[in-house]
Amino acid sequence: MTRIVEVATARLIRPLHTPFVTALRRTDHVLSVAVRVTDADGTTGYGEAPQIWRVTGESMVGIEECVQGPLATALLGRAVDDEQAPLVHRWLAGAVAANTGARAATEVAVLDLLARRAGRTLAASVGGTADELGCDLTIAAQVDDPSAELLAPGFTTAKVKVGLDPADVQRVIRIQEQSGEGVRIRIDANQAWDVSTTVAAVDAWQAAGVALDLIEQPLPAHDLAGHAELRRRLSVPVMLDESVFSVHDLRRAIEAEAADLVNIKLAKCGGIYAALEIAREARKAELGVMVGSMMESELGLAAAAAVSAAVAPDQTHDLDAAWWSIDPSDLGTPYRDGRFVISPTPGLTRAVERISESLGPWRVATG
Ligand SMILES: [Mg+2]
Repeated sequence: MTRIVEVATARLIRPLHTPFVTALRRTDHVLSVAVRVTDADGTTGYGEAPQIWRVTGESMVGIEECVQGPLATALLGRAVDDEQAPLVHRWLAGAVAANTGARAATEVAVLDLLARRAGRTLAASVGGTADELGCDLTIAAQVDDPSAELLAPGFTTAKVKVGLDPADVQRVIRIQEQSGEGVRIRIDANQAWDVSTTVAAVDAWQAAGVALDLIEQPLPAHDLAGHAELRRRLSVPVMLDESVFSVHDLRRAIEAEAADLVNIKLAKCGGIYAALEIAREARKAELGVMVGSMMESELGLAAAAAVSAAVAPDQTHDLDAAWWSIDPSDLGTPYRDGRFVISPTPGLTRAVERISESLGPWRVATG
């Protein structure tokens, strides 16, 4: 048992080597807030909350104020140990509505602290069995540089962002041709399409021999009936992302028969224990689960990988976000042969070391 004595935030800003473009946004940087918690013995733990206006609605300033205010108040002075770890997300959810990214980062920081105290990885703390995970690589929507449509060496699953360009159908066929037969293609339209556009595109890809792995969130988040119609009309699995933040959203999607798989993200659901609950509920309804992330650094991705290792060690996850802000010649990255490798060091220590030069000054919460 130990006691949380300090909560602090710092801005975490890293440039991307390639602009990240989706149907929802374009960005050149990781823009996140890092959360640090410290216990009475001086052990620390860290988490990351990304600014994502168009999905969670959270901003850097909003995340900082949320963590500095109600979340710090909910944690400061609390005694924590492994038995209480599953309760942390309830304390935080009781302190503030929405703000799922801020809550996730704060919960992860506490779980990281407990993992470090126990000398084990965060993945092992939450029941993870794998030490490396299959990982796709995103190909941004409407990239200006055609060489960026080539999959980086080692990756065998491309997640192609579509929805901005009427020529997307031909573009995906070209990407499959350039990548070769061994490469699987995932499609993510980030809510930009309608039923008829989706059906026509999938028909064209299948006719052209594209190895389609799944299609992610083609329709607006609220349109569960439309996604259910797509499942009836298409033979390719439909994955929901923006439609499912919480376990309640997932139950509605299951009820509507709107999904074959769900993309679980810490910044949407509010933390690791919420993610584990969504995964359990999905499994009960025989849905596939995949773990993804927002545009985040290695810190957020290391936390997402811990969840991946616990809920679906054999799945190919969407854990490439940190690849966008690392030097491709850097041999110390967690990406190896198209897989995400979990560092064997305690908690998230390795990830924190690797992003430390991207952190601004720490601001300590007074609660
Ligand atoms: Mg998505």
